Amino acid sequence: MIKGTTRKRTYRAIYRLLDRVSPVPFDCGMICGSACCTAVSEEDMGIYLLPGEEKIHDKHADWLTWNTQSTEEYDFPPSWHGKVNWIRCKEPPHCPRKMRPIQCRTFPLAPHITEEGELILVWNDSDLPYCCPMIEEETELDPDFIQATLTVWKHLIRDPLIYDLVKMDSEERYEG
Ligand code: SF4
Ligand code: SF4
Repeated sequence: MIKGTTRKRTYRAIYRLLDRVSPVPFDCGMICGSACCTAVSEEDMGIYLLPGEEKIHDKHADWLTWNTQSTEEYDFPPSWHGKVNWIRCKEPPHCPRKMRPIQCRTFPLAPHITEEGELILVWNDSDLPYCCPMIEEETELDPDFIQATLTVWKHLIRDPLIYDLVKMDSEERYEG
């Protein structure tokens, strides 16, 4: 399995920090039928864990199925060699909230490193098979959520593998 430098206790602290915030002060799943969650149960969909994020998860927990994917077969940075954890929720949108992966917690924002090297947040612009109303309408997000999410990504990109991932996605945006 691909190994980053982010430690278990850092992931725990990140989860705790993000437990305290939410993008909006209401359940946005009510407006779209939890589109982002339900997509995760569909064929070919899932969530990549960041390198080492699996350390704080129980592989025997009954709400997830675990798979791995080869970094060579999918679009990962050249520095990523080996396998990544790829998980799927069995009954989305139901999950233990405190165990949501970072990918769920920081959506609908995405980290972006500008050409000047500054880390900022942008709307998630991945090619998604569903429509997120918050992204479509550029809903005003809770400032505490934005600040916590930026803080988290600032920590995460200290891990060279995670930096390379964020940089790769950012460079794709430069090219438009
Ligand atoms: S993040 Fe977007 S797609 Fe997901 S539940 Fe909220 S509004 Fe729906
Ligand atoms: S972990 Fe929870 S929030 Fe994330 S996709 Fe699964 S059901 Fe949705």
